[in-house]
Amino acid sequence: MSDCLFCRLIAGEIPAAIVHQDDTLVAFKDVNPQAPLHVLIVPRKHIASLNDLSTDDDGLVGSMIRMAAALARDGGYHERGYRTVFNTNREAGQSVFHIHLHLLAGRALTWPPG
Ligand code: AMP
Ligand code: ZN
Repeated sequence: MSDCLFCRLIAGEIPAAIVHQDDTLVAFKDVNPQAPLHVLIVPRKHIASLNDLSTDDDGLVGSMIRMAAALARDGGYHERGYRTVFNTNREAGQSVFHIHLHLLAGRALTWPPG
């Protein structure tokens, strides 16, 4: 059994509110939402952080971003606006070391982030 939380979630060993999945990606609701819409878009492939990407992953990362845009559109947030975030390592607050794209929408998001 993997000790990676998101690998286990993707394998169905941990429950999740999945909103979309395909051969390469799974999108599910964040368990501790920071906005009315807070979804995590996760590749089935285990990659610990953006520091571990290779050129082979360029298409995969592109599909993550395009899925975020599609889910924002599905939710009716594409014109109001939405935020997409990858946190990497300690100072950015990465807590799960399997890359995930946060999609946040449904409230005015401040800048700069905390
Ligand atoms: P990060 O801090 O960028 O690594 O984001 C990890 C995110 O995963 C946090 O927003 C957590 O709330 C979320 N999270 C942790 N465990 C789960 C889970 N079992 N299901 C859904 N989201 C989770
Ligand atoms: Zn993993």
